[in-house]
Amino acid sequence: MSEANGEIPEIKCVGIIGAGQMGNGIAQVFAVAGYDVRLSDISDERLEQARESISAGLERQISHGKITGDDKAAALSRITMGTGLELFGDCDLIIESVVENEEVKREVLKQLCPLIRPDTVICSNTSSISITRLASVTDRPGRFMGMHFMNPVPVMQLVELIRGIATDEDTFKAIRELVEALGKTPASAEDFPAFMVNRILMPMINEAIYTLYEGVGSVKSIDTALRLGANHPMGPLQLADFIGLDTCLAIMHVLYEGLADSKYRPCPLLVKYVEAGWVGRKSGRGFYDYSTDEPVPTR
Ligand code: NAD
Repeated sequence: MSEANGEIPEIKCVGIIGAGQMGNGIAQVFAVAGYDVRLSDISDERLEQARESISAGLERQISHGKITGDDKAAALSRITMGTGLELFGDCDLIIESVVENEEVKREVLKQLCPLIRPDTVICSNTSSISITRLASVTDRPGRFMGMHFMNPVPVMQLVELIRGIATDEDTFKAIRELVEALGKTPASAEDFPAFMVNRILMPMINEAIYTLYEGVGSVKSIDTALRLGANHPMGPLQLADFIGLDTCLAIMHVLYEGLADSKYRPCPLLVKYVEAGWVGRKSGRGFYDYSTDEPVPTR
């Protein structure tokens, strides 16, 4: 039990800040599981896109026989959307899932704290940023931890759980039980740059981009090589596009700066793609062009 804030509340209402590809997936999973969901982003346009993408995600679950049409309607009715953080006043848990930028995350967390109950737990879905540093800008470091979902959230089994230095044991236990209640599997990691999944995955993706940059292989041959040669379900460049090249670059920066080792230097081609706005599937172009039905390699 946390001395400062009493018992962890029973988690019934979950707030999500950031209605991008991850925030939408997280909202979908909690709504299908029967939780009340509050979802916010910076513009109504973003939220309109989020509603469409959650609806499409639920349709996919219907087509796979996982839920019924009635379940879809019930899930959508549990999601309330809005552009302000005032939406989160009655939440038991809030998951921050805005862009992978420490300054933006810190600002959002600072603005959030005065607007929510003192017993509310806050988690960050960050892929790489220090949980201890993010916790330090809140008024509740004991009630703060990393809850790192995988993309696409409705499909992927794992949730990586990260304690900051100040995270209370009862906070950790409540979130671990919540992950299990969602039917997912937790894996716990220490608070080091990029934790476990991206500490291992992102240098491989960065190396695949170097392999392309140096002309060792084309987009198609690199992806085919890893799919058929290492039995990966997706090639590394396809996966990079799926994650978002802006997110991949942000994670490489966190690794490079946080571990001070040149082996994490972001590939200049990755930097160039992000500068061009070619950030992958979500922008319609990355290492593949998504403007046609079948993605077309760009190099
Ligand atoms: P995204 O670009 O799809 O979405 C980010 C959203 O944050 C956008 O809708 C943007 O409008 C919103 N946003 C930006 N500033 C905001 C603010 N001040 N207040 C509210 N909303 C704001 O990115 P994403 O892939 O959904 O990533 C979100 C988080 O999830 C990042 O921390 C990322 O590292 C993490 N993550 C990503 C993946 C992945 O595969 N993409 C996997 C696990 C975790």
